[in-house]
Amino acid sequence: MLNKSRLGFIAFILFTSTLLLAQKNPIAVQYGEQILLSDLKENLTIIASDALEGRKTGSRGQKMAAAFIRAHFEEIGLQGPVSNGGYYQNVPLYTVVPGKSTINAEAISLQNFRDFIFLGLNELKGDAQVVFVGDGEEPGLEKIEIEGKIALVLSEKRTNEIPVADLLSKGAKAVLICNFQDESAFNAFSSRVNQSFTSRRMTLSKPTGSGELENFAFVSPSSVEKILNTEFATLQSYATDPKKGSRIRRVKEGSIRYLFKNEIKQINSENVLGYLEGTDKKDEVIVVTSHYDHIGKLSEGTGDLINNGADDDGSGTVAVLEMAKVFAKAKEEGNGPRRSILFMTVTGEEMGLLGSQYYSENPIFPLSSTVVNLNIDMIGRSDPEHDGKPDYVYVIGSDKLSQELHQISESINNTYTQLDFDYTYNDVNHPTNLYKRSDHWNFAKNNIPIIFYFDGIHEDYHLPSDEVDKIDFELLTKRTKLVFYTAWELANRSERIKND
Ligand SMILES: [Zn+2]
Repeated sequence: MLNKSRLGFIAFILFTSTLLLAQKNPIAVQYGEQILLSDLKENLTIIASDALEGRKTGSRGQKMAAAFIRAHFEEIGLQGPVSNGGYYQNVPLYTVVPGKSTINAEAISLQNFRDFIFLGLNELKGDAQVVFVGDGEEPGLEKIEIEGKIALVLSEKRTNEIPVADLLSKGAKAVLICNFQDESAFNAFSSRVNQSFTSRRMTLSKPTGSGELENFAFVSPSSVEKILNTEFATLQSYATDPKKGSRIRRVKEGSIRYLFKNEIKQINSENVLGYLEGTDKKDEVIVVTSHYDHIGKLSEGTGDLINNGADDDGSGTVAVLEMAKVFAKAKEEGNGPRRSILFMTVTGEEMGLLGSQYYSENPIFPLSSTVVNLNIDMIGRSDPEHDGKPDYVYVIGSDKLSQELHQISESINNTYTQLDFDYTYNDVNHPTNLYKRSDHWNFAKNNIPIIFYFDGIHEDYHLPSDEVDKIDFELLTKRTKLVFYTAWELANRSERIKND
């Protein structure tokens, strides 16, 4: 077995020999030097401006960003590779928005989120008697007629422990649940649910109403009082009484007209693709990605509410635009890459890597011809771990599917950019699980080698304070050059990298 110092010695030999072997390619340098800080700054000032309102997937701000990127690709002479020369790959997404649910009765009018909450997707409506069933559990329900009525449950249990299915099997049309101690507990729950509705993830497939959220609604204590015309405390004391059967039968039934509904909304969003055809190896494609969507605006609060996402992932987006510019210029001057390069800024990343997932399921170029994916998600700042330390970047995934890719990545950096490569997050057991948390994952899971470039988690992550003035443009330029030189090598070397 080799001991550590011997390993160190061998590593030293390998490292120095790499340095000796790797000569700078003067043509690559000629173009690498055309990656300009001023361009990155100018483009990022637009992409991360307040006018784009945080670029939430499906919003007008996202569409403004898409239009800007498309115009850039067009202007520098990239082809639109989607059908008929288009730059947009439409990504149809779904989300659920609260419907106008109501509960009405003589002299009462209850509203969704204020008095009750319905989360299901199947619309329920009609007129019904409301029968009080205590905590909803046997014994005590034998003599209670539930069939064709709405059963109202008061319980201290968690929702998934309440026997909703039993009550439905006894013929209840629907179940109303109040498992809140008081009104403020209901209000807190309601505002949490409301929040998660608005920040809810979108989906690629149409949601269906088959889940456990169908056929019941939550009701507030005051709504319970109104519906049954009985004091909440009295009902509470009956609910858990061992002799509840005789007691709850005394509670007079209510009568309501109800409409419970939510709406599935389709959202149209788009990946933006710019294609540069290669020369003698044009059927092999290098894919360079970043996500240009972000998380939009905060729905409440004061002051700056716009999540500009300058670092996340405005920084990656402008890096892709700049590399595209330089590669296109190289081609114009007869120095174009041998392999083709697809520059793709994707949508829906913040909603669950949806744009890249859609691409991987509907690829414009066969995945089998896709050599590698270089994905950039946040490269414009430094995290607290690197305060006062040399320029760095977190490199993730480079060694997972191709040792050759990993070696190229290291050697390019040693030759051209000399950044400190930090592999902290490369460990698949790292709790942050970053290997699966950005768009490269949709390539990696299809066995395509990837490298993910990342700058770490900082205090402005996913906050309105992720602004352009906090970007370190020198560092952003350097990291963009790193990805550029790596792409240059992968696109021009004679052998396609091996997937081992
Ligand atoms: Zn993000």
